Amino acid sequence: MSLGSSSESVHVRAPGKINVYLGVGGRHDDGYHALATVFQAVSLYEDVIARPSAGFSIVVKGLEDPSTVPLDDRNLAMRAAKLLAAAAGYDGGVALEVRKSVPVAGGMGGGSADAAAALVACDALWGTGFSQARLHDLAARLGADVPFALHGGTAVGTGRGDQLNPALARGRFDWVLVTSEQGLSTPTVYGRLDALREEEGALADDPPLSLDVPIPVLQALRSGDAESLAESLHNDLQAAAVHERPDLEETIVHGLRAGALHGIVSGSGPTVALLCADPEGAQQVQSALRETGLDPLHVHGPVPGARILG
Ligand code: ATP
Repeated sequence: MSLGSSSESVHVRAPGKINVYLGVGGRHDDGYHALATVFQAVSLYEDVIARPSAGFSIVVKGLEDPSTVPLDDRNLAMRAAKLLAAAAGYDGGVALEVRKSVPVAGGMGGGSADAAAALVACDALWGTGFSQARLHDLAARLGADVPFALHGGTAVGTGRGDQLNPALARGRFDWVLVTSEQGLSTPTVYGRLDALREEEGALADDPPLSLDVPIPVLQALRSGDAESLAESLHNDLQAAAVHERPDLEETIVHGLRAGALHGIVSGSGPTVALLCADPEGAQQVQSALRETGLDPLHVHGPVPGARILG
């Protein structure tokens, strides 16, 4: 089927995320950890440009080390395009260009943002006309963080993080991000968490199948008050990420000394997210961290999910 495919290219932008709260249940025998998380989409974006083509191809730009992102069917943007084509019965292809700004394996869902952007871009390019709900279902099949990258804003994720419910968040939160050239593997960090819990004798015999986000986190987001949110920031994966990368703890301490309200490791790390009182506070933290030789970024959230530009 050729659908209503366009001869123009389609440019889609999708955000990276911070987990302002991440609760992780014990490991089940099948490797499943129940999650309760609050995602916030922030103004660090991935751009995906989809151009008409008879076959499927992908180029990825903006990488420090090109070997960190696969250019075959393991690439999440490529998988998203092929999944949509199969679901729509589309027999053409697409030439994808991914422009990365979100650090690879940084705990900010960059690959998931690429997948969400590719779904939206190919849907528009091919005239597939899938509903948001249908795209959400495909997104969930690609990875637990992909539905959120489609959705954006602020949302509660439960199950594996893929069962999403929007969360009310007022105002704007200013963050300083300290990214790392060297990524951290998500399975390694989960494995370390399990090992640390075992050492502490804290492994539950019968881990919960579902978890909840504590009410104070949701109240802080609703109030739009950065100081309240700072008190609620939490990440169960942080100790495991710091075990792999002890320097992350130092980065958080530097950030607090520079005036951040609070700092956490985002997701499985190694990106450190420092919450600041306002834009001026964030600029001050950014300048102070630059003097220590770091290369911090000032971003804000929440921002919208994957959307077509122009
Ligand atoms: P996760 O979503 O697993 O928590 P993350 O947010 O820490 O991961 P990503 O940048 O999404 O990090 O990449 C995780 C891994 O996925 C990388 O090591 C990379 O090899 C693979 N990957 C597949 N497709 C992409 C893509 N389009 N961009 C980045 N990484 C990709």
